[in-house]
Amino acid sequence: MSELYADVADLLARPGARATRRGRVPIDASSAAVRPTDDAVELDLTLEHVTDGIVVHGTVSGTWQGACSRCLEPVSGPLSVTVRELFEKEAVEGETFPITDDAIDLELPLRDAIVLDLPTVPLCRSDCAGLCPSCGVNRNEEQCTCTGEHADPRWDALDELRL
Ligand SMILES: [Zn+2]
Ligand SMILES: [Zn+2]
Repeated sequence: MSELYADVADLLARPGARATRRGRVPIDASSAAVRPTDDAVELDLTLEHVTDGIVVHGTVSGTWQGACSRCLEPVSGPLSVTVRELFEKEAVEGETFPITDDAIDLELPLRDAIVLDLPTVPLCRSDCAGLCPSCGVNRNEEQCTCTGEHADPRWDALDELRL
């Protein structure tokens, strides 16, 4: 059973009761460009029995990794998301999450929160020069002489030789 699945029968039996959930859990929360490092995050959550159901609040943290959108070099950064979600027996679609058989599944709300926090266009640095579209060199590391049509002056020299 998923580590993100929590039995809340004890909490539901006692109004005002609280429980904590801490530790590293695996999660599949990749966006198009990046994903949590090792596909895992650190949870620090409190589960609390309130009038309407169970409120889960706290933080999800870790790091993300991916490839720079411009130069494709590996890039990583911090991940830190604040979570506050209500689980109830009669869940309202798009607003709250269900309590099913005295248990809640944290995976969906946590995955959504993580994916929203991940950068959609990760960059190794804000002024990354990217790859040359003509010759493919990493322009952060190398200067190429491509300028467009007559990309490389050496080819001009060859053209002259052919004449
Ligand atoms: Zn880059
Ligand atoms: Zn080039």
